[in-house]
Amino acid sequence: MTETITFASLNLAEPIQRALAAKNYLHPTPIQAGVIPHLLEGRDLIGCAQTGTGKTAAFALPILHRLAASSRRSGRARPRALILTPTRELASQISDNFAAYGRHLDLRHCVIFGGVGQNPQVRALQAGIDILVATPGRLLDLMQQGQLSLDSVEVFVLDEADRMLDMGFAPDVKRVIAKLPSPRQSLLFSATMPAPIREIAGRLLTNPVEINVAPVSSTADRIEQTVCHVAKADKGRLLLHVLTEHQGDRVLVFSRTKHGANKLAKGLVLKGIRAEAIHGNKSQGARERALDGFRRGSVRVLVATDIAARGIDVKGVSLVVNHDIPNEPESYVHRIGRTARAGADGHAVAFCEPDERGYLRDIEKLIRQQIPMDADHPFAIPFDPALPVTSGRGGGDRRPGGFRGRAQSPAAAVDGRGSSARGRSSSARRRGGNARRRGPSGASRGR
Ligand code: AMP
Repeated sequence: MTETITFASLNLAEPIQRALAAKNYLHPTPIQAGVIPHLLEGRDLIGCAQTGTGKTAAFALPILHRLAASSRRSGRARPRALILTPTRELASQISDNFAAYGRHLDLRHCVIFGGVGQNPQVRALQAGIDILVATPGRLLDLMQQGQLSLDSVEVFVLDEADRMLDMGFAPDVKRVIAKLPSPRQSLLFSATMPAPIREIAGRLLTNPVEINVAPVSSTADRIEQTVCHVAKADKGRLLLHVLTEHQGDRVLVFSRTKHGANKLAKGLVLKGIRAEAIHGNKSQGARERALDGFRRGSVRVLVATDIAARGIDVKGVSLVVNHDIPNEPESYVHRIGRTARAGADGHAVAFCEPDERGYLRDIEKLIRQQIPMDADHPFAIPFDPALPVTSGRGGGDRRPGGFRGRAQSPAAAVDGRGSSARGRSSSARRRGGNARRRGPSGASRGR
C-alpha cells in the first residue's frame, strides 16, 4: 500500500470513496497511486502489472469516476466502457469489482463470456449498459449478430494482454480494436511486455504513459520458492507427501494438461484429500462450484491448468505446487502469484523431472533468481549439472548454465542453500530449517 496517499487525495468522486471505505481499502496500492491520476486526466496508458497488485481498481475507479461525471445516458447494447479480458473467471471478477466500487453510482455494467447461454447476456445488453466486461470470442459473436455495437466506447481496457496472446486471441483482439471509435481513451495492462504486446500497444494507444510498478522479476520476491528434483513416476507420491506435510489450507496445484489435472484430483480424493480439478473442459457451473468450495474452505486442494487458474483471486492460498513446470516461463510467475496476494507471504514449490530442467532454467533466467533446491524430500533425485538440458524454449545453450556455479549437488543444497516451503519434510524442520533457509537472492550468493 502507498501509506501517504489516500483515495480522497486522488480526487475520486465521493460515492466511489464511500464504496472503497466499505471495502476497507484505506490507501491505494502502488499501481493505483501511479495509474489513477493519469487516467483521470484522460491519458492512454500501458500498465505493467500482474493480478494481485490491485490493477483492477486502478482502471475501474477512474472509469467509474469518468462515466459518473458525464450526463450521457447508457445506450442499449452500446457500452461506454469496454474491458476485454482473456478468461471467464477474470471477467466475472472484474465485473464484481465494478459492482462493488460503483454500488453508490447509477451506472450499469454487464459481463459476457462464452460457455453459457447468450440470451440473458443479450437481455442485459438491451436493458442499457455503461460498462461491459467481455471475453473476446463471445464479444465478437454478439457483435456479428448485431446484438452489440462498440460505436459509443469512450474507454477501452485490454487486460492481461500477454495472456490474451498466449491463448491465441491476438486476431480477435485486433478485430475488436478495429471496431473501436476515435477519439477514445485506451489502456493496456500486461504482466510482461514482449514484442507482440508492444506491437498491439502501438496500434491501440496514443502517446501513452507507461507505469511499471511490478516488474515480473520482483513480484516473486515475497514468495518463498523451492524446487524438488524428482523422477516423473514419483511426482504423485511427492505431491501427497507435500500436502501431508503442509499445514495450510487452500493449496493450488498446477498441471500442464486437463487430463493430468483430473487424474491428480481423483488420486488425491482417493487418499482422502478434499480436492477438485478446474480446467477448460469443465462446465462453467462446475468451475464456479469448485472455486466457491476452494474459497469457502470445503475444497482444500484445487488442481488447475494455467488457463483455468488465470486471474483467480482467492485470498489465503498458502501454497502453490507446480506439479509440472510450465513451458512458458511467464506462466510460472502467474502461477506463483496466486499466493502472497495483498501483501501476504506465500510459498511455492516446483516439481522438476529431468526433462523439465530446460523449462526451469528459462524460469530462473526470467525471474533472475535461482530457485533454491529442496533435496530433503523422500523422492529427491540428484541434480546432475552435467546432464544435458533437453527441453525449454529459446534453443542455444541447453545446459543449466544460466547461473554461475549452479552445479551443486543436492547434498550441498541441504548443507548450504536449501530452502523450502512449509511443506518440507518434518525431518528438515527438526534439524533446524531456518539455518538452511535462504531467500531466493541469498540462494544465488556465494557460488
Ligand atoms: P487485483 O490485482 O485487481 O486482482 O486485486 C488484488 C486484490 O487486492 C483484490 O482482492 C482486491 O480486492 C484487493 N485490493 C485492491 N486494491 C486494494 C486496496 N487499495 N486496498 C486493499 N485491497 C485492495
